[in-house]
Amino acid sequence: MASSTKYIFITGGVTSSLGKGIIAASLGKLLQSRGFSVTIQKFDPYLNIDPGTLNPYEHGECYVTDDGAETDLDLGHYERFLNTSTSQSNNVTTGRIYNNVITKERKGEFLGKTVQVIPHITDEIKNNFYKLGQEGKYDVIITEIGGCVGDIESLPFIEAVRQARWDLGPNNFLVIHLTLIPYLKAAKELKTKPTQHSVKQLLEAGIQPDILVCRTEYHLPAEVKKKLALFCNVQLNSVIEAMDADTIYDVPLLMKKEKLDERVLSKLKLSSKQNTDLDEWKDFLGKLKNPTQEVTIGLIGKYVSLPDSYKSIIEAFTHAGASVECHVNLKLISSEEINLDNFKSKLSDLDGILVAPGFGERGFEGKIETVRYAREEKIPFFGICLGMQVAVIEFARNVLQLPNANSTEMDENTPHPVIDLMEEQKQIEQMGGTMRLGAYTCELKRGSKAYQAYGIKKVQERHRHRYEFNNKYLEQIERAGMLATGKNPDTGLVEIMEIKNHPWFVGVQFHPEYRSTVLNPQPLFVKFIEAAIENKKYK
Ligand code: GLN
Repeated sequence: MASSTKYIFITGGVTSSLGKGIIAASLGKLLQSRGFSVTIQKFDPYLNIDPGTLNPYEHGECYVTDDGAETDLDLGHYERFLNTSTSQSNNVTTGRIYNNVITKERKGEFLGKTVQVIPHITDEIKNNFYKLGQEGKYDVIITEIGGCVGDIESLPFIEAVRQARWDLGPNNFLVIHLTLIPYLKAAKELKTKPTQHSVKQLLEAGIQPDILVCRTEYHLPAEVKKKLALFCNVQLNSVIEAMDADTIYDVPLLMKKEKLDERVLSKLKLSSKQNTDLDEWKDFLGKLKNPTQEVTIGLIGKYVSLPDSYKSIIEAFTHAGASVECHVNLKLISSEEINLDNFKSKLSDLDGILVAPGFGERGFEGKIETVRYAREEKIPFFGICLGMQVAVIEFARNVLQLPNANSTEMDENTPHPVIDLMEEQKQIEQMGGTMRLGAYTCELKRGSKAYQAYGIKKVQERHRHRYEFNNKYLEQIERAGMLATGKNPDTGLVEIMEIKNHPWFVGVQFHPEYRSTVLNPQPLFVKFIEAAIENKKYK
């Protein structure tokens, strides 16, 4: 199978958390800026079918694509950098691979054969490597292999990469190995040995990396680069330094300076389709680094001990803030620590308040107090998913005077289930992949804050939730001043709630943060920041 699509595989060694996703996204950006159409996919070595059932404390946010796939948060980086959508095909786990193979086995597709890791699992992995390429849309496909080389779990993926070289043919295949060059303070030296060892492990698996990208806190001196080239069997100019950056959005430019894209093009025998065009990117960076104003916004949630749980929200603030030249000082506040006695001291320095998405009862009452404060004190408020649901519950309790109003997620027996499961959902028992997931249309009411933000009547936003606004309460709630300003035109489900007599109080059932990219900041985030700027002026 000689391929017209070029494949770049990115593996990691020495430690996890080196930022393979950012390197993949940055390289993708550079190739895109030279006129190539690029997509990035991630293969994760864990056994979950998808990360939807993983704890955000452990794994960070679960990123949702337009087609409703629950994916690794690195896909968020791919979309934010490349400004293109990904899908289920861009994220495959060991669990999904095994599930596919076992399903085929039960159907009898391997009749008579012993089903084995090699070739059946590796074939399934390779089929998935090539799936997006077969759409014929992409010049280059970058594949990030999760985990570290040497992990037992990633072995079948690494073996599939080894085989892919032979499937794809010369000049169509490249391996970039991302590694760490630690600095030993006591010896005042950058050490290459861990990298030598991880490359040795790759070699044992039959893979010679073509390019080394070396994460380091200090510049790599020429002799260190030479040593790496010699011991790891790569060309000297294929040892690429990746210094720690101020922001992840600097990395494409740093990689350009290091000529990562040039090395890749020369090894894949590709010539640029156009002169590198990074003007808009640089414009964004310029604004990001030179803000003319600043606001403090509180993100109130229960997973605040691991900021990665709110990755897309944090990045959406970066994009939206830069677009209005405003530095957003984002304070992550645990809703478990907020109560009736202390809410003022916890929240009074905030120019805007965001109540985050989430699941379960813990920290819920703190969120209620937070919404009440934002509503009564007229602080700009943005509620996302659970954040919107809390806003509705708070309004029902304190404005409609229905003291026990709740979501049936928090209290199954509430007398006023203002947030509830839809009838057809009540039968579902399985947890994985059974929420309302992916992009749905939302029709906006003219004159609403949401309409002012988007400037169009119909928008598409992504979802990830089980519970819905209960339309039985709509009339009562609207009469009291909280309006449904966005609805799904096909189902009538409420998508957006706003309070009329408030400078900016918007709750959305969907997740606007998933659609925010560097070049397309999300409009609700932009307007929320503007409202916070306005609020700060009159403080
Ligand atoms: N727990 C709520 C639900 O399932 C909200 C989910 C969320 O915030 N993503 O509907």
